[in-house]
Amino acid sequence: MPDDRSSVITSIDRVALKWNRSDWSCAYDSLFTLLFGIWIERPRYWNKILRTHSIYLQQLVKGFQDFRVCRIAFENLRDSVHELLYTNNPNSFPLGHSFASVNDLLRTMFIEQIPAGWITCSICHTNLVINHGYSIHFDILPGTGRSTAEWIKSIFDYENSPICPICNTAYDKTIHLPKVPHIISFDISSLSSQFVISSNIKILKNNRNTILKLRVTMTYGFMMDNATQV
Ligand SMILES: [Zn+2]
Repeated sequence: MPDDRSSVITSIDRVALKWNRSDWSCAYDSLFTLLFGIWIERPRYWNKILRTHSIYLQQLVKGFQDFRVCRIAFENLRDSVHELLYTNNPNSFPLGHSFASVNDLLRTMFIEQIPAGWITCSICHTNLVINHGYSIHFDILPGTGRSTAEWIKSIFDYENSPICPICNTAYDKTIHLPKVPHIISFDISSLSSQFVISSNIKILKNNRNTILKLRVTMTYGFMMDNATQV
């Protein structure tokens, strides 16, 4: 009997995708390979998380499991997800000799929103709900900071904190979130190359630090996850 373990893929090192010359696949090749690299480190963990995002990620993650045990070729998996994307968004994810953007892919596949948070009055402890409406795929726009740290400050910091109507003092500036996203990604295609990408974003959750670690940098974006908790 053949040894099944020899046909199980356990790292990204053995993965190379052949470019599809009839339906140009550059964006899909780069993103899906990177995602497989993240997924293969903790398949069970990422199965649970990625499946909740979109039908495209569901299909991709299901395919990762088949690919891992060599039941499907990565190229076939890529093409099937591309076809599903094309069916629902033909303009962004065309078939044939047209490029797609990795950022459009991320925006379409990762649809989770950062949950609404709150700020607290330090005197009467009343909460004010902050429904910022951010998706976990962020566009970092010019003029919003020269580094990840400055950018976070620009979107999550209040210049003038709202005033608590009971105590007539400003709410604390810290925004509390009910849960920290497992993965976030950033579009930096409209920024200059001077932008400094931090390797960690530290988030305080229940008085414990959760670190979102930089995982992947692409030409026009990067991705962070909190698979490593401290
Ligand atoms: Zn108050």
